[in-house]
Amino acid sequence: MALIVQKYGGTSVAGAERIKNVARRIAAAKDKGDRVVVVVSAMGDTTDELIELAYQVTEQPSGRELDVLLSTGEIVSSTLLAMALRDVGYEAISLSGAQAGIRTDSAYSRARILKVESQRVVKELEKGKIVIVAGFQGITGEMDITTLGRGGSDTTAVALAASLGAEVCQIYTDVDGVHTADPRLIPEARRLDEIGYEEMLELATYGAKVVHPRAVELGELFSIPIQVASSFSQNPGTLIHGGVSMEVRNKVRGIAYDLDVAKITVVGVPDQPGIAASIFQPLAKAGISIDTIVQNASINKITDLTFTVAKSDLAGAMRVVKPIAKSIRARECASDAKLGKISIIGTGMQNTPGFAARMFDTLSQHNINIQLITTSEIRITCIIDEARVKDAVRALHRAFEVEMEE
Ligand code: ADP
Ligand code: ASP
Ligand code: MG
Repeated sequence: MALIVQKYGGTSVAGAERIKNVARRIAAAKDKGDRVVVVVSAMGDTTDELIELAYQVTEQPSGRELDVLLSTGEIVSSTLLAMALRDVGYEAISLSGAQAGIRTDSAYSRARILKVESQRVVKELEKGKIVIVAGFQGITGEMDITTLGRGGSDTTAVALAASLGAEVCQIYTDVDGVHTADPRLIPEARRLDEIGYEEMLELATYGAKVVHPRAVELGELFSIPIQVASSFSQNPGTLIHGGVSMEVRNKVRGIAYDLDVAKITVVGVPDQPGIAASIFQPLAKAGISIDTIVQNASINKITDLTFTVAKSDLAGAMRVVKPIAKSIRARECASDAKLGKISIIGTGMQNTPGFAARMFDTLSQHNINIQLITTSEIRITCIIDEARVKDAVRALHRAFEVEMEE
């Protein structure tokens, strides 16, 4: 008797009929004789609506209160799903993140799971019940409720799968697997039968939100295969795992994009030891994560320092950086909030020349200006004008299509 963890996303549980559909799918898995743990997201756009409501009440909601508020979305869907299962004759119990033993640090709105104390889940499974866990939430040592960051229910699911020693973690969503690019933007994007953790992690981190990057990280760490499929069909979807053979490690495996990019440039910075630390230490202290950092080669011991942050962090980052820029006698501090990034990803690009050139050439043929470039061994990312991101994805998908055929 296998143990499986299934996760259903927001679209899959948006409304009573869809919840009943999900209940039927879970019942079918249970009928096969498996023990089933289910993680659910909040219904439809609930999380967005709750955030909006909080900001209607105050400009700066308290992190603690906001997390309790947002956690209610997943409580609603988990309880309704347990009711729907009982209605069709299956023993089911809903548990909040706290009841399921999801222990986190206290970084509100982006908490990390420290451990999963799964005794309660195990106890309910031993009684033969289907256990429905509210995703995206946990509890601190002080018994305060936290949330794991947008899209975090995937991470709850893989963390539970790891802690329970599940055979597989199935992520059911509104597309039938991981594609070579976002299928909503690129209708001709192809579904991948399988993909390795490493490539999936880069795709997810650089914008392919079909799976949460931290879920992929945990999957790799604990060797949990993750199957991504549609909750509206019976197709097998995509298997994310560690055993992808060399033959399918194509050169470019997928294209990701992210519209959430803002840039800050500190212009005319004295090029001397300690300057970068004097800017980035206070940013880290303020809890602002920095993505790309580029420092120009200096001329006459003066340089420019550019870095990117999420758009929602721009105002906060400027508040931190402006006084520092002044104190180190930088000439000015400029920002641009209308950027996005596009990335081509594939393990097969390692040590193979020509991919960067082809990417840049494709963008130039479409008159798209590149502002910043970053690379890893298996990824090339360009930061460009937000308004051209979608054109760029289309052009790159066309340019690298042949590479992506299996
Ligand atoms: P859920 O609510 O089920 O967690 P999400 O909206 O978080 O669903 O993720 C699914 C969405 O991810 C799809 O609707 C699709 O538009 C988007 N997506 C982005 N990149 C990709 C990709 N490479 N392959 C598949 N889907 C992708
Ligand atoms: N409901 C949360 C969100 O919308 C978590 C999730 O869906 O995974 O981000
Ligand atoms: Mg998601």
